[in-house]
Amino acid sequence: MDYMPKIGLEIHVELKTKSKMFCSCVNDSQETEPNKNICPICLGHPGILPTINIEAVKLVIKTGLALNCKIANTSKFERKNYFYPDLPKGYQISQYADPLCKEGFLIIPSNNKKIRIRRIHLEEDTAKLIHPEGENYSLLDFNRAGIPLMELVTEPDIESAKEAKEFARELQLILRYLGVSDADMEKGQMRVEANISLVKNEKLEIKNSNLEKQNLGTKVEIKNLNSFKAVERAIEYEIRRQSKILEDGGEVIQETRGWDEKKGITFSQREKEEAHDYRYFPEPDLPPMEFNEDFISDLKNQLPELPLQKRERFQQEYGLLPTNIEILISNKDLSEYFEKTISELIAWVKEKNISKENYQKLVQITSNYLLSEALGLLGGKPFSEKEFPITPENFAEFITIIYEKNLSSKIAKILLKEMFETKKDPSDILEEKELTQIQDQETLRNIIATVVANNQKAIEDFKKGKENALQFLMGQVMKETKGRADPETTKKLLLDFLNNDKI
Ligand code: ADP
Ligand code: MG
Ligand code: ZN
Repeated sequence: MDYMPKIGLEIHVELKTKSKMFCSCVNDSQETEPNKNICPICLGHPGILPTINIEAVKLVIKTGLALNCKIANTSKFERKNYFYPDLPKGYQISQYADPLCKEGFLIIPSNNKKIRIRRIHLEEDTAKLIHPEGENYSLLDFNRAGIPLMELVTEPDIESAKEAKEFARELQLILRYLGVSDADMEKGQMRVEANISLVKNEKLEIKNSNLEKQNLGTKVEIKNLNSFKAVERAIEYEIRRQSKILEDGGEVIQETRGWDEKKGITFSQREKEEAHDYRYFPEPDLPPMEFNEDFISDLKNQLPELPLQKRERFQQEYGLLPTNIEILISNKDLSEYFEKTISELIAWVKEKNISKENYQKLVQITSNYLLSEALGLLGGKPFSEKEFPITPENFAEFITIIYEKNLSSKIAKILLKEMFETKKDPSDILEEKELTQIQDQETLRNIIATVVANNQKAIEDFKKGKENALQFLMGQVMKETKGRADPETTKKLLLDFLNNDKI
């Protein structure tokens, strides 16, 4: 391509606090009863006195620490003045000059690219405007008004639609690990706006970091992106649209565009006539904030292991495939369940003096059964340890049984399903259901005799040198025993018969 995209994201995230940002109303953006969680403060009545929700401040600082930001020693709230029906005060309490965090970065996992973060600040959400179809009025729901909202702004370092989507995904994962927000895009808990411009490739070569800003093309801002898919598709579309304009010798107009999900196109909403003048000024009813080092280092100590570190550790400690690691760490609960199971296994491995090599195999088996079979039983529902009917102890026992009793995968699946449905111990189920392997030679010989009697053709084929006739006969024995025949003994007995013509 002749043009290089430059993309900067502005991402709003609703914080997971108990109460709202400046009052004690319940913070629940999913409340369905309109105007339930409201008070004079979040309704913006005259003469109100807001107070700062310190929990929200802590969550933003934690995010900043996790994203390698500089944390402000002093910070303050300011009034951003504008009129809109969803903003009853006529101003939004936000931050302008002194954001809580600035100058950080996030690393995109697939290509290790550093995307710089310009700032992260704290503000309040607005009310929700509802426009009933076919009516000539609008409704206002204030449940969302005053919910703590974090805004994160990146530098225009993102260079493709895919990178933008990955940035948003990784950010969501980090926020979930931190417990800052569920950041569910479909629920509006995380909202992405994308700024996109194109620059001719040759221009980039004379790039000088001080002049970088001048080297950027005219940007277009896309709003209403409420899924990862929409982020990717809208940016792809916009890159194509702008390329076409430039190739035809035209100029891109600086404007705000919306995303039409159904048509798969962006459309002009408004052109930027002049820069907005919000007349920011310090919020006179809130004191400036000061953070000492203890406060910050305390928060730093509370940070959990983050996705990036966990990815690396899972690679080193367990030697799993990158795709499996990705599924495990994409859900903190699932990765913790996996590790609890492994630690149960390690205890058993020590007790039984199992070799390192076989331990590695057990880890693989655990990851395979957890990711394909156990998640399969959930039928697409996200994994949650609290709701998952199999304890890590039982899951570990299940793995040891597969290993010790050499269970066929067919039997293992039946056993796991039974554990999932009944919550019983795997060893109890094995006994009750007679799922154990048939190793007894006498029993196996009898079954082989029947199979042989019914499959004379396969016997002849084998004698003519057709190797797969043996596989076929093995299959028949397995069928007779519902997968319970011990494969090694069966094979040995079958070969004995085929080579000696007797059972
Ligand atoms: P505005 O003043 O129009 O809001 P900002 O400078 O505050 O613009 O930047 C807002 C977002 O747009 C940031 O994420 C920034 O990285 C991005 N951005 C700014 N200029 C460009 C550009 N030319 N191309 C792509 N993104 C840009
Ligand atoms: Mg801006
Ligand atoms: Zn309130």
